[in-house]
Parts: sequence; C-alpha cells; structure tokens
Amino acid sequence: MKIDFNNPGHIKAVILSDCIYLSEEARKEVGLKYAENRYPYGRSNNESWDLRSIPSELLLPEDIVIGVHLKNKNETPWSIEVSKSGQVELHFEGKSVTPISFSPRPNFFDKKLSNGKLAQQEIVLYGKYSLSLFNRGWCYFFGTKEQCKFCSLGTTRDDIGADNIFNIFPPIAEEAAIMAFKEEPRIKHVDYCAGTHPDNNIGIKQQMDLIKVVSKVAPRGITHHLLTFPPDDLNLLAELKATGLNSIAFNLEVFDENLFKEICPGKQSHYGYGKFFKAFDEAVKVFGKGNVYCGFVGGLEPIKSLRKGFDELLKRDVVPSINWFHPDPESDYKNKARPSKEYIFEAAKAMSDIYLGNNFQPIFPGGTRNSLDTEIWREYFV
Ligand code: SF4
Repeated sequence: MKIDFNNPGHIKAVILSDCIYLSEEARKEVGLKYAENRYPYGRSNNESWDLRSIPSELLLPEDIVIGVHLKNKNETPWSIEVSKSGQVELHFEGKSVTPISFSPRPNFFDKKLSNGKLAQQEIVLYGKYSLSLFNRGWCYFFGTKEQCKFCSLGTTRDDIGADNIFNIFPPIAEEAAIMAFKEEPRIKHVDYCAGTHPDNNIGIKQQMDLIKVVSKVAPRGITHHLLTFPPDDLNLLAELKATGLNSIAFNLEVFDENLFKEICPGKQSHYGYGKFFKAFDEAVKVFGKGNVYCGFVGGLEPIKSLRKGFDELLKRDVVPSINWFHPDPESDYKNKARPSKEYIFEAAKAMSDIYLGNNFQPIFPGGTRNSLDTEIWREYFV
C-alpha cells in the first residue's frame, strides 16, 4: 500500500505493523538522554537487544508518540539513523523521511522517595503527558495459568521489570505524585492500572485508595483514568467516581465471544463475557456517555467481528479503544504475526467515524505508544 509520508498518523500506523530498526549510531546517540523503558507492564522487544538502552517512545512530527518495537535491519524497511550533522532521523528503505526525537526523560526519575526508592520505581510517564501508576505488578491469572495469551506482565516483572515496585502504597503514591507534578508540568493525565486481584472488589478498593491521594494533590485540570478488571459489586463504581476518577476502562480485548474465551481464559472463568456488559452499562450510568472505554487488542480477530464490537459498544455509549497487537517474547502469542497495515487502516477508519461522529475523546489525548485513538481523534484517518 502507498504510504502518505506527510501524515505522521499514517507513518505511526505503518510502523506499528512493520516495526523499526535502531542503528548502532542511533543507540549511542540516544543513551540516557531520553526516557528509557522501565517495563512496568510488559516487554515487546527481544533479549538480543540491550533492553535497558532502548528508549520507550519515539516522537514523530506533530507530537505523535509511538512505542519503540524493534526488528533487525533486514526485517523492516524503517530505521532510526543519525545524520552527519547529528540529527536523529527516521528512514524508509534507506532514505530520510523526517527528523524525529524521543520522549524526554522525566525530571523526577532519579529523585529519591522517603522509602529509599527512586521515583521511577514507583511511577513512570506513559506517552509525553500521562503519569502512570502501575499498582499491583502481578496478575492473578499468571498464578492460575489463565493469563491472556498476548500478555507478558508475569514474565516481565520477573526479569527486566523486576525493580518496579509491586504494590504502591498510598502515602508513597502521594509523595511521588507531588514530586512528579512539580518536576513535570507537562503532565495532563494520570493513568491507574493493575493486574487482576483474586478478589475483584478488593482490587477496586486498592485502586480507590491510590486515586484518592493522587487526585487530592493533582493540579486543577488533570484527568484521572483507571483501567481495571470490573468489580463484582457494581455499587463500587459510584464510590470510584467520588474519589476523583474521570473515566474508566474494562478491556474485553476481543469482541468475538469464542475468541474471548480462548484468548482470555482467566477473564472468562473469573467474571465471564456476559457480565462485562452489565459492568459497562452500570459504568455508563455512573461516569456518563463517552467516559467508559472498552479496550481491544487490535489484530486478534477478523475485522468484521471488531466492527460488530464497535457497533455493540456504541449502542451502550461505550467508547472503543485499541492497543495494536505486538508479539511479546515469552507471551503465549510470541510467534503470532502483527496485524497488517491494511487491517490497521480499515479499523482506524471505522473508529474515526465513531469518534468524530459521536464527539468521543481518546483516553489520553496526548497519545500513547501502541494505540491510534489519539491520531484518529486528531483526524489523521478521515
Ligand atoms: S488480565 Fe490479562 S491482560 Fe490484564 S494483566 Fe492479567 S493476563 Fe495481563
């Protein structure tokens, strides 16, 4: 397919399918000047790379952020190179496309907290503008061997992500958040995320404790979003909102019910496909239209089924959000292919109609690594 090199949203979409090669020169140039990946959630790059030296995100023109998913030189037409004048550039088939940069390293990363830990072990930035608290760095489903087949949380937290803190305690979260807001005025959103707790209600209550303390110290205008497994007691949703939470997501990952059962066996046995929809309906009553999201892993089901999912969600006033599939080493789907460019463009166009037709906003308008929600909202796919 023909690539529009003047459209950075399109470039991102194609790179999400093709991945990128980081040249030796670029790796030296990048060093620790930019935000390295802290791996609080998963890892999508192979051990053969020095994982600590890879920046978490690159920045395309027009402030478009994209996760750095690497391939070897002969496996992708895209590469990151350094020009003779020292400019880091994106190349396609050996020709320079555009100057690029990387997400700046957060000023709070190396500051110490009162528990003796570095702030970066408790909190990170995800995208340029979102403070991220990945509390509870484990998921019950890795214990029961029912983890989602694309997920690498368990193994990542056992190796490259092992020095991230498992449980962020509220007083430390408060201290770290105060530090982050002071050091990084660019922060616009806070993202709370966790692996699944064996007790769905306790899992939610633990998140509530964090949201309460962080929202209390957040500057005015900062929005707070929670990605979580839904509670059994849906009355907890109103309590969650009262903590200062603006939006919430429950991720079905795939819309097709049979695929859901196959790909997310823990979600099926611990809650069940049908119950997710009850949770969506209740969440919309509490948070309102446009503030409840359903996350999909883009590329795991036929496009027709994904579109059916969009229609069903729209009927319920729920906003679809897609993270594009990447085969994480050591996940069950480590050998599965990424979605094709054609698939990504077709899904992005369908989502564009929904977002623009209903005035929906992406979860993080500043953009994230593996999603095109922001680029769709910014009309790169009309
Ligand atoms: S619920 Fe699934 S995607 Fe989420 S952390 Fe657990 S295994 Fe990973």
